[in-house]
Amino acid sequence: MSHGSFKRRQFLMAAGTAAGAVLLDQAVGYAQQPGKPEVTKVRLGYLPIVESAPLIIAQEKGFFAKYGMTGVEVIKQANWASARDNVVIGSAGGGIDGGQWQMPMPHLITEGVITNGRKVPMYVLAMLNTQGNGIAVSKVLRGQGLHLRMKDPNVIKNFSRTNGRKFKVAYTFPGGNQELWIRYWLAANGIDPDKEVELLTIPPAETVQGMKTGTVDAFSTGDPWPYRIVEDDAGFLGALTAQMWRFHPEEYLAIRADWVDKNPNATIALLRGLFDAQQWCDQQGNRQEMTKLLAGRNFFNVKEDILIDPFRGQYTMGDGQRNISDFTMGPMYWQTSRGNVSYPYKSHDLWFLVETMRWGLHRGFIKSVDQARALVNRVNREDIWKRAAQASGIKPPTSTSRGVETMFDGVKFDPANPQAYLQQLKIKRV
Ligand code: CA
Repeated sequence: MSHGSFKRRQFLMAAGTAAGAVLLDQAVGYAQQPGKPEVTKVRLGYLPIVESAPLIIAQEKGFFAKYGMTGVEVIKQANWASARDNVVIGSAGGGIDGGQWQMPMPHLITEGVITNGRKVPMYVLAMLNTQGNGIAVSKVLRGQGLHLRMKDPNVIKNFSRTNGRKFKVAYTFPGGNQELWIRYWLAANGIDPDKEVELLTIPPAETVQGMKTGTVDAFSTGDPWPYRIVEDDAGFLGALTAQMWRFHPEEYLAIRADWVDKNPNATIALLRGLFDAQQWCDQQGNRQEMTKLLAGRNFFNVKEDILIDPFRGQYTMGDGQRNISDFTMGPMYWQTSRGNVSYPYKSHDLWFLVETMRWGLHRGFIKSVDQARALVNRVNREDIWKRAAQASGIKPPTSTSRGVETMFDGVKFDPANPQAYLQQLKIKRV
């Protein structure tokens, strides 16, 4: 009997493996070993914040070229709205094929939500980084405990009584990561971001000035901007996103679906180059060289000393807070104690869409968890990531859910039960 069940188990395992392999090949449509890239060129947009490092490093250190992608252009975008407009145009019209995105921009562009109804299907292919973002607060507000856990949220809630206007909160694109982070921080501290503050979209450079002159009170964006505000003595760091949600999903590589569908081998080659770059970026010994490269005039055009501290996980928080000195609290690109950074977990795409639903952003674009899941399944191409990983001998995560996520205020997001997450939240529009 035991012999029989052993044989049966062996058969089932073999059958399961074979069926799984066939299904994977059919679903993905790629050969086992990736062939020669169909094209050697692609135009990828980036913004001069730490999220873009792996794209720039892959180009500058020759990692894209190593896999045959010798004509990759990594092109600076004036702002997020320009990146969006350029991807709608596409490279044929002088725009871009894809690049670095805040979430859930690829999903919004796919559905035509932020492109005047024009649907440009996109694929999310890899996560570029975790952490490396922060919320800066104006120096005018020092000494009032506006930190991760606010001493007195009434400073913000009652701001108009003492200042004649609401507390002004800024970010660089409406409805992207950075708005979601600052909304989360405010709401976790009992402040309703839709009712008790004024929300503004402005470019980073204007923020430093705004913080100095007192026209912007808090700002959410990628490094080095929050840190620069501290260095310029315009403010202090209210919170790092690494404190709000350790190893949270941040920005992603996403490319137009038509480009990826037409160039499957080139897509795999790009991903393999990206993996090499992400691994290179996480070597502490490379961060000095990385700083020098990124700070240069061709890329961020900032002083190196503004960039090196975040890359070392060193943050002068300001306003009497303890400074942070921990490499793993800064931007990370490949591996953390929560696993692989690059792998695009569907559970993370889902969080961004559920959070969009929480706030009714983009005119209530996401109306149900089911709708969110369906959209994630169309846009997220973790299957392509896995094929590229296989070609590079990288072991992919075993599940497309990273599992339960815990935020700084104790709220948990269980990707298997987003409704329970929404129920826990006190301030929401659903
Ligand atoms: Ca960001």
